Amino acid sequence: MIIRKIISSYNQVACISITGLSLLLVACQDRQGPGLDPDDETNDGYEVNDLTLADTIDGSNWPSYGRTFDESHYSPLDQVNTSSIERLGLAWSLELDTNTANSQMLCIDGVIYTATGLTVVHAIDAKSGEVLWRYDAEVAEKAGWKLRYGWGIRGLSFWKGNVYVGTQDGRLIALDAKTGTLIWSVLTTEPGDARFITGAPRAFRDRILIGHGGAEYGPTRGYVTAYDAATGEQSWRFFLVPGNPADGFENDAMAMAAQTWSGEWWKYGGGGTAWNALTYDPAYNQVYIGTGNGAPWNWKIRNPEGGDALFLVSIVALDADTGEYRWHYQTNPNEAWDYNSAMDMVLTSMEVDGNERNVLLHAPKNGFFYVIDRETGNLISAEKFVQADWADAIDIETGRPIEKPDIRYESGQRVVLNPGIFGGHNWPPMAHSPLTGLTYIPAREAFGSWTDSGVDNNTWQHTPGVYSPGLGPQSLAFMPELGISSSLLAWDPVSQGPAWSVPTPGGWNAGVMATGGNLVFQGHMDGTFNAYNAGNGEKLWSFYAGIAVDSAPITYSLDGEQYISVLSGPPTGSSSAFAGLAGYFWDYRDYPRRLLTFKLDASQTLETAPPPRQPKAALVNNDFIIDENLSATGEGIWNMRCVMCHGGAVISAGAAPDLRASAIPLSKESFENVLRGGSLESAGMPSYEELTDDELHALRQYIRSAAE
Ligand code: CA
Repeated sequence: MIIRKIISSYNQVACISITGLSLLLVACQDRQGPGLDPDDETNDGYEVNDLTLADTIDGSNWPSYGRTFDESHYSPLDQVNTSSIERLGLAWSLELDTNTANSQMLCIDGVIYTATGLTVVHAIDAKSGEVLWRYDAEVAEKAGWKLRYGWGIRGLSFWKGNVYVGTQDGRLIALDAKTGTLIWSVLTTEPGDARFITGAPRAFRDRILIGHGGAEYGPTRGYVTAYDAATGEQSWRFFLVPGNPADGFENDAMAMAAQTWSGEWWKYGGGGTAWNALTYDPAYNQVYIGTGNGAPWNWKIRNPEGGDALFLVSIVALDADTGEYRWHYQTNPNEAWDYNSAMDMVLTSMEVDGNERNVLLHAPKNGFFYVIDRETGNLISAEKFVQADWADAIDIETGRPIEKPDIRYESGQRVVLNPGIFGGHNWPPMAHSPLTGLTYIPAREAFGSWTDSGVDNNTWQHTPGVYSPGLGPQSLAFMPELGISSSLLAWDPVSQGPAWSVPTPGGWNAGVMATGGNLVFQGHMDGTFNAYNAGNGEKLWSFYAGIAVDSAPITYSLDGEQYISVLSGPPTGSSSAFAGLAGYFWDYRDYPRRLLTFKLDASQTLETAPPPRQPKAALVNNDFIIDENLSATGEGIWNMRCVMCHGGAVISAGAAPDLRASAIPLSKESFENVLRGGSLESAGMPSYEELTDDELHALRQYIRSAAE
C-alpha cells in the first residue's frame, strides 16, 4: 500500500525526483494552478483526489481514464523497457462473463476496476487475478429500447474511495470501492429522451462530470452535468447547443450560440453531445468538453440558412466549479459529416516560437491534428494526420478550415470523402509521451459518402430509436472497395508531422499506452498485443492472446514489480463492423473474454485458441428468391439498425451472430418473432416493433442476398 502524505514542499520533491528535462517541466507545471489545493489534508491514506490525479510522477497506479488529469495515457514506470521487454510474460488471466472490448480499466492500490459490457463492474486483485466483487447495473432489464445502442460502456472513474460509472439507460451510479455496494444513483437523462451513456465520467474537485450520446436516435440537445461526488446532488449543467429562443436562454453563451443557428433547429434537438472525451485542467481550473455532430447530420434540415451551429464539434472550456463558459474552438463550422470532436484532448506544454505554452492536443474524426492554447482557446497549428479530403488547410489566423468545394451535398449529389463517418481517429484513446514528445494515434483511413437524395428536407423527422442522420441510406455505407486501413501513428505536435507509422491489421485498432520504458503498447484485432520502441516504431514484443485485443492497456506497480493489463475479447460496436470486413471472426460463443496481466519473468500460458475463424459457409435455401431492389431497401434498414452488432455488409466479427449463417432469416415467422416479438431480448437482441411487414421482408432479402 502506498501512503502519499501531503507535504508543503510537494513541488520541489516531485521535481528533483526525476531526471528527463521534458518530464520535469510537465510535472512541475501540472502541480500549479487554482484547481489544486495544497492544504487538502484529507489524503491520509491512498485515495484518488486532485493531487493524486495531477501527479504525473507516481506511476504506481492508473487512477483515471487517461491515468492522470492530462489524459496522456502515459505512465512513467520503466522496469519494463526496450531492453527488458523480451522477458515480459503472462502473470495471470481471468475469464469474464461480459463483452470486454472498448473498456478502459483503472488500478488503484492493488485493485483493478473494470466496467465492461452493459455496465458490469468488477474489482479484481491486481496481483492474483481474484475477483473481489462484481456489480451488475442490470442495464438489459432497465434500458428498454435504449438497448439498441448495445455496444457497452467504455470506462469508469474513481474518487476518494468510490467508483463511478454510467449506464446505457442514462444513470450515473456511485459504488463503494471496497465492497461494490451502491451508494447513490441518479438519472442524468430525461425520461423518454434518446440520450444514453457509453463514455466514462471524470472526477475532479469533489465532482463527477458526465455527458451522454444519442444525437442520431431522436431529437437530442447535448449537455454535460456535474454531480457532487459524495451525494449525487447536481452541481451544474451546461447545454452544448441552444434551445428554443422562445423559452429563454440558460446563459449568455447560449444566447451567443443561438446567433449561429437558423430555422427551427430546436425541433430536431441540435446534437452536440459529449459522449466521450472530457478533460479537467488544474492549471486553469477548467474542464474541456469535446462535442459531437449535429442532429441531424443534414445541415439543410437542422440549420437551413447556414451559420456555424455552435457548439457542435467543438472543444468548449468551462469553469470547473460553476460550469460557466470560458472559450470554445470549433473544428468544423456547421458540421455535416458526423465529424465529431468528441475524441480525447491531451494536456501538455511545448515550445512555440521560443515560448513555453500550455497546449491541448486533439486529433478528431476530421483528420487534422490540432494544437490549441489552453489559456485562450487560440489555434496554434493544425495539419492533416491522415488523408483529409474535405479541406485544403486550417487558416491559423481565423482558426477556420479552408473547405474544398462541393463537400456539403449542396445539390443532392453523393459526396465521397476520406475520412468517412468513423473518422481518421475515433474514441480509442491516443497516448502522449513526455519522453519522446510524440503523440501516438490509433489512426485509420476509410471513405464514407453522404447524400440527401431521396430525403424531403422540409418534412423530415427523427424516427425515434432508429439511427437517423437525415440523409439517404447510402450515407452509412462502408465502401470497402475504396480501401480501408489503419495504423499506429507517432505524431510530432511541434513540427506537425509524422515521426513514424506502422500499419495495423484491419480498419480499426485499439487505444494506446506509452510508458517511461520508452515503449508504446497496442492491441490488434488479429489477436495480438504488441509493444513498440516509442522512438522509432520498431516492434519489440508481441503476445498472441487468442482473441482480438480491442481495449487500451494500463500499467501499475506492486511490491516493486511493474504489471501491464489489457482486456481481450470479441470486438464490439464500430470495431466489430470493421473487424468483420477485414476477415476477423471472433464469435463470442466460441472465444473467451479475458483480462490478461503481464510482468517480467512470468510464464503462464493460455489455453490454445484457434485462429480467427473464416466466414462460415452460408446456409443456402434455393426456395428463397432474391429480389435485388428489395435487397437494396433492406441494406438501408440494416445500416440504420443492425450494423453495429451484426457487422458491416452482414459480416459479423463475433459480437453477435453472423446472420449469413443463421436459419432465422429464412423463416418469416422466426424473423418476426425476434425482430418484432423480442423473443431474444434476454440474450441482448433488442426488438424493433416499428418495422412493417414490407420492411421485414426487405431486411430478410438483404441478409439472404449477402449470404448467397
Ligand atoms: Ca455520431
